[in-house]
Amino acid sequence: MGYIHKVCNEDFLFNHLAFQKAELIDGNTWAQNKNNLCAELLRSEDPGLFLFYDCIATRNVGEAWAHGVGTYSPTSRGLVMPSDFPSIEHEIAHFLEMGNIERLKFCDMGMDSDPGKWYERGPSILFIGFSRELRTRQIQKILEGEIEGGPNCKLAKSMNDLTTNQSWHPDQQFSDFGKFKSAKEVEDYMIDLCNKVRQNWTQEKIRFEFKRRCAFMREHVGSLQSERPVAA
Ligand SMILES: [Zn+2]
Repeated sequence: MGYIHKVCNEDFLFNHLAFQKAELIDGNTWAQNKNNLCAELLRSEDPGLFLFYDCIATRNVGEAWAHGVGTYSPTSRGLVMPSDFPSIEHEIAHFLEMGNIERLKFCDMGMDSDPGKWYERGPSILFIGFSRELRTRQIQKILEGEIEGGPNCKLAKSMNDLTTNQSWHPDQQFSDFGKFKSAKEVEDYMIDLCNKVRQNWTQEKIRFEFKRRCAFMREHVGSLQSERPVAA
């Protein structure tokens, strides 16, 4: 499936009013006072590769997005993401989940970040996005410190989060379930997917993938730095 080769408009991101008051905190600094797997990963990146901003406090963030700034933005200064909406653990989970590592070079990892558009494209695209989000949330729970292969009640809670979330609720948006015949089939599929992610994403695999992806993106960030004119 194709993806969007959207490159971040860095001048807009760093200079526009929307970000003037927003402090960018590097991931390593954020992680100093936290104690979970996500913090451990971010502390291992020194100097920090990730830069986070307080999305809720940032005014006109929608306008920034409309001007070529992503929720996830690879820039010559690092990988810029929100810290609070969604959480850092969620954003790092997306960074780990994305199967095609090349997509980490693009804003929003090549995803269309406008929820309205997912629904316009119909059930098959919706379920691709939906499955990605579900996998991401399972990885997120491991990053937040939940025990691997946790009890099914945790899986159920996670699914419940997803199915009751307005923008992800499939049967609220569609009477057509695409390849599924009913809401029950969707639920069975989700349980199966959750279990597979839990089995596959061990803490060891997470540490390995994080390191591999950071090395890959440090090189990309370095290439963006050399492309930018140096101030006289
Ligand atoms: Zn997400």
